[in-house]
Amino acid sequence: MREPLRPGARIGILGGGQLGRMLAMAAARLGFTCHIYEPGAHPPAGHVAHRVSRASYEDRAALEAFARSVDVITYEFENIPTSALDLLEKLRPIRPGREALRVSQDRLTEKRFLAGLGLKTAPFAPVSDAASLARALQITGTPAILKTRRFGYDGKGQARIMAPEEAESALAAMQGAEAILEGFVDFTHEISVIAARGPSGEIACFDAGENVHVNGILSTTTVPARLSNAQQTDAVLIAANILNALDHIGVMGVELFVTSAGLMVNEIAPRVHNSGHWTQDGCLIDQFEQHIRAIAGWPLGDGRRIADVVMENLIGDDIDRIAEIAADPSAALHLYGKAETRPGRKMGHVNRLTRRP
Ligand code: AMP
Repeated sequence: MREPLRPGARIGILGGGQLGRMLAMAAARLGFTCHIYEPGAHPPAGHVAHRVSRASYEDRAALEAFARSVDVITYEFENIPTSALDLLEKLRPIRPGREALRVSQDRLTEKRFLAGLGLKTAPFAPVSDAASLARALQITGTPAILKTRRFGYDGKGQARIMAPEEAESALAAMQGAEAILEGFVDFTHEISVIAARGPSGEIACFDAGENVHVNGILSTTTVPARLSNAQQTDAVLIAANILNALDHIGVMGVELFVTSAGLMVNEIAPRVHNSGHWTQDGCLIDQFEQHIRAIAGWPLGDGRRIADVVMENLIGDDIDRIAEIAADPSAALHLYGKAETRPGRKMGHVNRLTRRP
């Protein structure tokens, strides 16, 4: 795919959650149509897309039909089975590419990649059994966090080890899965940079946001983040370094810890990111449009921040507060159309403008 996509072109999105939904809305605004591929019933993205295929990632016929119906394929989550990617890749370009997925699907591969770029991370070591955990604890000390290498999200698949006696129960919590032990980082706060890279290598970064997690789930993102000028520059350079090394096309979220020794990378996500939702109301061009522009080969848009914003996730019963939020003149409400409320489920978010242009 060398030429920029023209309006009317078709974008395939793997995954039908809220990220897919907001990508499809941004794509529609630029005149593209979206085809969502999602195994689950009632995908939120389906409400706003041209077409939905409900099929598993093992269904080769459905995957092939999906690929043939679109011009480019993107995704809203990183744990897409390799076999599905192998098949899709032969038929249509996948953006961002395989390398970003390979690196970010496995926390150990990701940490090694980051360290290989010379970026600071928490001390880490691989863990597969009691003996390797004991060795890993020699490297990290305590407190430490044991995490599954794959399929962890929103704090799931993690166990803290405050003292060596807790090693056994933490290992049991991994339920036999390959894991990584990370030394506990003494951070003052957490930030993330959402950055986009186009096919010709141009990069645009949104201002860093400051993130607060509750029970392992993102609760709020505040922009601007508390950062010195030097730290702001560092954050941009780190993100650009990662995007270039992966030859990334599209948006990426880079989560960082702010420590007295500088910025440390926690993790990367090769996709639009929850901590970038503030851009919908804080920038002329938001992360979703920026991603669509990048994968379509369009010039990246102007992502400069035009307001101060606090983004709050609406999780579970928070949805009951929508009448009050809707009445707040500073608030822009974004709901995902999920029929069923469950504890811990992301139902929507609200962007409150705390300083306007
Ligand atoms: P993760 O899924 O790796 O992003 O972890 C979720 C949250 O756990 C992070 O946003 C941090 O608040 C915390 N956390 C994860 N890893 C570490 C670490 N090595 N040191 C301190 N806190 C951590």
